[in-house]
Amino acid sequence: MSENAPVLDEAALLERVGAPEGQGREVVDAATREPIGRAPVHTVEELDAAVARAKAAQPGWDALGHAERSALLNRVADAIDANAEPLARLLSREQGKPLNGPNARFEVGACSAWLRTAAATPLEPETVVDDGETHAELHYRAIGVVGAIGPWNWPLMIGIWQIAPALRMGNTVVVKPSGYTTLSVLALIEVMNRVLPRDVLIGVAGDREVGARIASHPDIGKVMFTGSTATGRSIVESSAQNLARLTLELGGNDAGIVLPGVDATAIAQDLFWGAFINTGQTCAALKRLYVHDSVYDEVVDALADVARQTPMGNGLDEQNVLGPLQNRAQFEIVRDLVDDAARNGGRIVTGGAPATELGALFYPITLVADVTDGVALVDEEQFGPALPIIRYTDVDEAIASANGLDVGLGASVWGEREEARKVAARIQAGTVWINSHGGVHPMIPFGGHKSSGYGLEFGVEGLKSVAVPQVING
Ligand code: NAD
Repeated sequence: MSENAPVLDEAALLERVGAPEGQGREVVDAATREPIGRAPVHTVEELDAAVARAKAAQPGWDALGHAERSALLNRVADAIDANAEPLARLLSREQGKPLNGPNARFEVGACSAWLRTAAATPLEPETVVDDGETHAELHYRAIGVVGAIGPWNWPLMIGIWQIAPALRMGNTVVVKPSGYTTLSVLALIEVMNRVLPRDVLIGVAGDREVGARIASHPDIGKVMFTGSTATGRSIVESSAQNLARLTLELGGNDAGIVLPGVDATAIAQDLFWGAFINTGQTCAALKRLYVHDSVYDEVVDALADVARQTPMGNGLDEQNVLGPLQNRAQFEIVRDLVDDAARNGGRIVTGGAPATELGALFYPITLVADVTDGVALVDEEQFGPALPIIRYTDVDEAIASANGLDVGLGASVWGEREEARKVAARIQAGTVWINSHGGVHPMIPFGGHKSSGYGLEFGVEGLKSVAVPQVING
């Protein structure tokens, strides 16, 4: 560990990033609903001051060059690793996801992994013409100040997806976390700022007005936004003011298609986690499952077996791998969609009613069989632990259903690999996984189709998206 990266316990982190008593807004533990601290709520004027500081710091950060910035980003990753447990505990309490399983510790680990990859990925200038008469090269320069606006479901990991490439390319970054997960993101920034030069990375907590100001700010040249499609549309409108470049990672309603001939028991675990990672609160989770009639009953039964064996509860309890819904609005969306599906012919296989014995915002894993397209649980993004399972007989119909909505973030096809790849090629989605769903990798580009957004994150494409191309001709 570097001498600049001390370990701060959870109380010290909260002390540094929280608002004093009587100020800001109360933050409660997502599982117990007991207060854990107070989050600051910054004003638009404070945002403006932060952007001015980030703008002043940017030329110096850019002048360090790629090698020095990458070395610093690796030291930032060391600092995150050294503080991983207190960060994971705070994330678990504020967001609700358990420490264990593909949850809070996994998320903090992904932060350092993405930083290290951004640091290690080369982006050399390209010679585009060199014919003896003309010599032209394409370089990628820093844009300036990047604004990063994030959601509450994977707040640290998605924050780093925005921050790491932007810093690597010589930009400074102003981050606005979701109002639901402010403390965790500010704690991550606090740890990173033990290593980074002053004002290179600034967190500003605030709501809609602060977000809208980032999207229209004259000194912000690029906005990285991850959140709902509705907010994405507002950001596009706001950015008419500054013509900021945009990367929009928006909502999804990912379809999975299970082909005839699968071994239901063999795929059940992967199907389950594709749908229910982070208790279903994941952008690229499996949100509607189309299963061929010949294997339908086996797949439903195998998924129900996994659901019954997977413990849900308070995230600080090591045995749990599923947690509560993060907030009441999301809880009500899930509850209402399940109730509506049950009224419209859905057969509740597991779950189906709030798990109040676990706490106010717990909803059990709910499998709803025998539903059809047109039911709201199928057509709308549930973003929670309820999966509609639709029966099909003709794969062309299943593909038409998968493509029938205006979103296209991810999708998956389950079956014999070559057959599955042929189906995958016909699906309108940014990523189609074969025999898995939702896995991301720091070198594999990720982005949406249709109303799921535009622009790519990760890998070389991700670095280019936070840079401005410049041709040197001569
Ligand atoms: P949201 O759109 O409600 O909020 C996202 C962020 O935008 C928050 O920080 C919020 O404060 C801010 N915001 C709200 N109004 C704004 C405005 N007018 N201008 C600028 N900023 C504004 O989304 P959420 O509920 O936090 O996240 C859930 C949604 O995000 C789901 O639809 C999910 O699919 C999507 N999501 C997508 C990805 C992806 O990579 N495509 C990843 C995670 C989540």
